[in-house]
Amino acid sequence: MRRKVIAGNWKMNNDLNGTVSLISEMKKEMQGKNLPAEVIVCPPFTNLETASALLKDSSIKLGAQNIYFEESGAFTGEISPDMLKSAGCEFVIIGHSERRTIFGETDLSINKKIKTAIRHGLKPIFCIGETLEEREKGVTFNVIESQLRKGLEGITETELQNLILAYEPVWAIGTGKNATPEQAQEVHKFIRTLISKLFSANFSHQIVIQYGGSVKAENAKELLSQPDIDGALVGGACLKADSFVKIIEAA
Ligand code: PEP
Repeated sequence: MRRKVIAGNWKMNNDLNGTVSLISEMKKEMQGKNLPAEVIVCPPFTNLETASALLKDSSIKLGAQNIYFEESGAFTGEISPDMLKSAGCEFVIIGHSERRTIFGETDLSINKKIKTAIRHGLKPIFCIGETLEEREKGVTFNVIESQLRKGLEGITETELQNLILAYEPVWAIGTGKNATPEQAQEVHKFIRTLISKLFSANFSHQIVIQYGGSVKAENAKELLSQPDIDGALVGGACLKADSFVKIIEAA
């Protein structure tokens, strides 16, 4: 049985006060409940240290939303792996579709970021997914295969032990239009089969593959009960403690 992992991507939301309130409310909502899933929150960079201090006495883990692939130096505005680690991060989201489309990240830079994160002991949450146009053209599997192959190029199975994959169809992110459980399961199964071809059958059974794209309390149970969906990467619905905790309960 693979563990279920629910991660909340706060995106560019919540200042310091908002961070304190949301984490405090989450802790209160989760208190006394025996929640079987691993829970990760990914606040903006400026709030990581505060979040880390607030999470010390809880089982909730901390992640960042991005990383740079160099260790240090003249890279104005970027954040290094050691900075994330010293702020208390265990995880880092890499290759989110907003980074790819708005900030021009490529498969190559994403591959470098994954390698850097792993080298520094950070656990990547590696996002892949097709656009609506690609789905309508019938090239979803080609896009997924290409993103996965290029993103993981030159990385061994041993190095990937702590990597989480997140299938996030771009047309479902922040749109309120989630993939149906059948659509999501079909792609998750394809990804798992591809992992087994690229690495090993054993590893393909172990790797956690999250679904992301308009996951909310109302649709979480159906999505998370699919055999190859091992968790969720949640955007909008993680900004309210009660809705995020309902998704965790659904897992
Ligand atoms: C995301 O940002 O990764 C995401 C899935 O967002 P939302 O849940 O709002 O669609």
